[in-house]
Amino acid sequence: MTDRETIPLEEVDALVRRALTKHGASSAQAAAVARIVTSAERDGSESHGLFRVPGYVASLRSGKVDGTATPTLAHPAPAVVVVDAARGFAPLALELGLPALVDRAREMGIAALAIRHCFHFAALWPEVEQIAEAGLVGLAVTAATPMVAPAGGTKPFYGTNPLAFAFPRMDGPPLAFDMATAAMARGDIMLHARDGEPLPPGVGIGPDGAPSTDPDAVLAGAQLPFGGYKGAAIALMVELLAGAVAGDLFSYEAGAKGPKDGGPPEGGEFLIAIDPSRFGHGDGWQARAESFFSALADIEGTRLPGARRHGNRGDRHAAGAPIPASLLAEVRRLAGG
Ligand code: NDP
Repeated sequence: MTDRETIPLEEVDALVRRALTKHGASSAQAAAVARIVTSAERDGSESHGLFRVPGYVASLRSGKVDGTATPTLAHPAPAVVVVDAARGFAPLALELGLPALVDRAREMGIAALAIRHCFHFAALWPEVEQIAEAGLVGLAVTAATPMVAPAGGTKPFYGTNPLAFAFPRMDGPPLAFDMATAAMARGDIMLHARDGEPLPPGVGIGPDGAPSTDPDAVLAGAQLPFGGYKGAAIALMVELLAGAVAGDLFSYEAGAKGPKDGGPPEGGEFLIAIDPSRFGHGDGWQARAESFFSALADIEGTRLPGARRHGNRGDRHAAGAPIPASLLAEVRRLAGG
């Protein structure tokens, strides 16, 4: 059992800002990353909370990421928004691009946002939830570095390539799912390695290509896609959207670029926002969706994706986030004590 210290969310936010600015990030870059890390801790997305701060700092130290980058926005087509992150972290680029994406989707019925030249290390639900909080349907994907073997292969080729989707609700937070296309997110495998816990079967293979439940062997070998060739097909789609359409690196290209500093990989993110009220069947879509959610909730044993996070959100707003003591000590050290 990991020793934990519960700290207020304001302290999480302040620690991240200090750790990043101390290592050369601008206050704007540091604040945007801090908001994302704090929302991850608030929702209990532990693998994308403070756990990532040493990686963010490492990429500033190595010079891989420009911590002072100022993203810029362009509209190459009426329903297309492109943000050049200028080799900065993804969160500030997203903060610039999302309002423009929402505006264009409301105007055109559907719009897409491509973030280029960024370093993405975070969960994707914050951006799709933000789209859905504006009353739109949101979808987001990003590639990474090679970690997942394609169906039939034994060497890493795809990233863990997450796919997130959010849908507005009449009351309460949006429905949102956000999942790696690997059988397990890499951050969770790293947490198993840190805690000395074996993996469930089917998560990965060792360097020899044989199935393994040893997290260190899988980190050195290859992860497996969820659902065999089906998850691999979604990982492939993510590569094409975030790499070819957004105009950035495929995972295997990102993996060939240095330095290997443990920080976020270079790559793009691709998002779509849809305004259901512009599809010519009036405003009844939301009541229809609610009737679907009710029918689903009536099935015993089910829950909506995102419900775990939203439950944590209420609790941790009041009580703070329980952070492993060793991680907290490390982040405090990076933040200068
Ligand atoms: P999980 O497998 O933990 O969860 C995937 C989704 O399924 C979540 O929306 C979750 O909701 C939902 N879910 C889980 N259990 C149930 C259930 N019993 N019934 C209904 N829904 C359920 O996520 P992953 O480990 O695959 O991914 C973790 C994170 O890693 C994601 O946020 C992803 O964006 C991030 N990631 C980021 C990468 C990057 O490069 N930036 C790369 C890869 C992953 P809930 O949260 O409520 O449990």
